[in-house]
Amino acid sequence: MSTIVDLRSDTVTQPTAAMRAAMMAAPLGDDVFGDDPSVNALQDKIAALLGFEAALFVPSGTQSNLCAVLSHCQRGDEYIVGQQAHCYRWEGGGAAVLGSVQPQPLSHQSDGTLLLADIEAAIKPDDPHFARTKLLALENTLGGKVLPFAYLTQATELARSRGLSCHLDGARLFNAAVAQAAARDTDPLGEAKRIAQCFDSVSVCFSKGLGAPVGSALLGSAELIARARRIRKMAGGAMRQAGLLAAAASYALDHHVPRLGQDHALARRLADALHGIPELRVEPPRTNILFVDLAQEAKARGDALIAYLKSQGVLATGLYRLRFVTHLDVDEAGIDRAAAAVRQFFSRSVLN
Ligand SMILES: *Cc1c(COP(=O)(O)O)cnc(C)c1O
Repeated sequence: MSTIVDLRSDTVTQPTAAMRAAMMAAPLGDDVFGDDPSVNALQDKIAALLGFEAALFVPSGTQSNLCAVLSHCQRGDEYIVGQQAHCYRWEGGGAAVLGSVQPQPLSHQSDGTLLLADIEAAIKPDDPHFARTKLLALENTLGGKVLPFAYLTQATELARSRGLSCHLDGARLFNAAVAQAAARDTDPLGEAKRIAQCFDSVSVCFSKGLGAPVGSALLGSAELIARARRIRKMAGGAMRQAGLLAAAASYALDHHVPRLGQDHALARRLADALHGIPELRVEPPRTNILFVDLAQEAKARGDALIAYLKSQGVLATGLYRLRFVTHLDVDEAGIDRAAAAVRQFFSRSVLN
């Protein structure tokens, strides 16, 4: 059987047999009444793990970020955010459309950070001309990059000193934590908590590298989460016997965190294998996302490359740049197949 090597996203993973078993065994109730024991257990577990008073299980990372921004901000407020941030660029403008909260996007530095001076300059004075600047929203990892921990403390201290709250889109927080733990020889869960504790609210995705089928959690104070619960209801995200999904997320937290390091190693393996192809500019991957740019003279061949890879059973995306994402359903053999297909495309092209 020739299997597909699907590197489009870490969202494509199938629940493992053990995860399915945990889902089937989960005690269930109606979570809108607060009665689902598996949802409650997951919320308690992730809140304790990351050091927050409360957590809210939501269907998606998009809804988690929306609940966060609308819980921190009122109509006419604004949030400072990066140009490439998911909660600004990739969520249909939800905070503005649904909450009348204005984004103030800033350009990123090459390491994914927003310059402190730019943040400072973007905070508006209290004056009727301006939206009220209420929130700084950062993302870690951002495009697979781990924001330096010292930066997180500086940026959030700056924001707090000016009266702003701080939100982290940590869809891939555990990837950041595992990479940071490897660099410091510490414990990944401890690093996840250290990162999360810089912020007033944190959103994490279970459906990405952690390998659960559905779901995210928003973490914050009990008061913030009570507000977020109202927004989740409004947005249609209050689910009933959601414990089936929460059990998968809980299983992922128990079993799939340290193994993210394997995904990071696979991304490096692919980067190494593509290194030296003259048409490609390979960006060294920090975690599980590998970006590859086509050299100027090869730019027009991006679509053809994606189509060729597909014909060889290798899936990747190329919206702006080629993107390969590793996860628990790919292995070394799959990565080697992907690399071989890319090489083949360029060696064939030379003949054409
Ligand atoms: C995937 C992602 C989200 C949104 O998650 P969905 O579950 O797809 O809505 C938010 N932020 C980041 C950084 C993401 O990668």
